[in-house]
Amino acid sequence: MKVRCCIVGGGPAGMMLGYLLGRAGIDVVVLEKHADFFRDFRGDTVHPSTLQVMDELGLIDGFLKLPHQRLQKMQGMFGGETVRIADLSRLRVKYPFIAFMPQWDFLNFLRESGKRFASLKVMMSTEAIDLVRDGECVTGVKAKTPDGILDIEADLTVACDGRHSLVRERAGLEIEEIGAPMDVLWFRAGKRENENESLFARVDPGKMMVTFDRGDYWQCAFVIPKGEYDAVKARGLPALLDDIARMAPILKPGLAEVKSWDDVKLLTVAVNRLKRWTRPGLLCIGDAAHAMSPIGGVGVNLAIQDAVATANLLASKLVSGYPSEDELDAVRRRRAFPVRMTQRMQVVVQNNIVNAALQPGNQPLKVPLVMRLVTAVPWLQGITARFVGLGVRPEHVHSPRSAGN
Ligand SMILES: Cc1cc2nc3c(=O)[nH]c(=O)nc-3n(C[C@H](O)[C@H](O)[C@H](O)COP(=O)(O)OP(=O)(O)OC[C@H]3O[C@@H](n4cnc5c(N)ncnc54)[C@H](O)[C@@H]3O)c2cc1C
Repeated sequence: MKVRCCIVGGGPAGMMLGYLLGRAGIDVVVLEKHADFFRDFRGDTVHPSTLQVMDELGLIDGFLKLPHQRLQKMQGMFGGETVRIADLSRLRVKYPFIAFMPQWDFLNFLRESGKRFASLKVMMSTEAIDLVRDGECVTGVKAKTPDGILDIEADLTVACDGRHSLVRERAGLEIEEIGAPMDVLWFRAGKRENENESLFARVDPGKMMVTFDRGDYWQCAFVIPKGEYDAVKARGLPALLDDIARMAPILKPGLAEVKSWDDVKLLTVAVNRLKRWTRPGLLCIGDAAHAMSPIGGVGVNLAIQDAVATANLLASKLVSGYPSEDELDAVRRRRAFPVRMTQRMQVVVQNNIVNAALQPGNQPLKVPLVMRLVTAVPWLQGITARFVGLGVRPEHVHSPRSAGN
């Protein structure tokens, strides 16, 4: 197979970039190793910046018809006290809310919407297993498909294969580890009809949890100190469920659905970034370039913003030829600042809130001063909303649209 651009990974970064390049009439293939997008452990948050991008692409009406919940006021429980984290209604944007939608619905929507672009192909059950090179230059990928091994020749390969990226490892790109003090236990609890709650984060001494309303069930993320999974398991499932029910009484009836450890997935959290995002013929974006922690639920949106910036900077060049490594590096130059700022904020929260909360013992938790201030001063909730909802340097779609698309 020979294409202009081969995208490895059909997550938010890969599917959005595929859509944008297909829209520009560029011959592009997206490889996704799974047979479908129906996987539990993807972030569910679609922020105002992404909603704006969907609007600019003319996709917003269809998108908002998909089942979702809207969140404007983010609040949590910190050591028994209610804290206000952000108020998105203060944003002066067209869509001032976070849409909570299972990510498979979002990705399926992008895939379906992209079917009208003749030059875009999405290959499911297709896993990149190696890079193909010509000297220093990456010239495509070797992929495993249900029908055997396929060599794909591409003028540009884009790694969108997430935080365990095989492509970046094969390219020998150096990673700067920033580190995260926690991992996450991911499980679902049953939800009764009309059971609603505006709380989404809870912090108690030694424990933290986030819950997402997925309509007919609660998706729960229980935070544990990094490397403590075996210790949590050794205490037994009933002890864990007891802790959770005490922390979030609303979940108690639904926890009956967590019957064994098979219903609880361990998700490892990483925060890191590449020093260099490119090789000749290769670019990394999204978590493959900078793994994000779940803090703030901003990783999906950063991945989308990377995709928009990539198409803005490279699509015209790809229409007629292929970009040099310096031209590819323009994406890092544009996106490195938002990534650094966002990761810095995530690390500040990790060091000041997550670390303190996960300390063993039962000492009462004090709401940090900054959180008290944000709770007390409503306009500060507009600033946090801006950071969470729009991020640093939000991108707008400027990439070309080919005639007929
Ligand atoms: C526990 C946890 C919870 C999180 N919750 C949120 C949240 O609520 N909101 C939020 O915004 N962010 C959240 N994040 C961060 C978010 O998941 C990532 O930042 C975001 O998914 C990055 O998107 P991506 O497209 O770069 O990569 P990914 O979403 O990781 O997608 C990569 C894709 O590539 C595919 N793939 C991998 N290897 C190959 C291969 N060799 N060949 C072909 N395909 C391949 C994978 O199957 C996957 O579909 C969370 C992170 C963690 C760890």
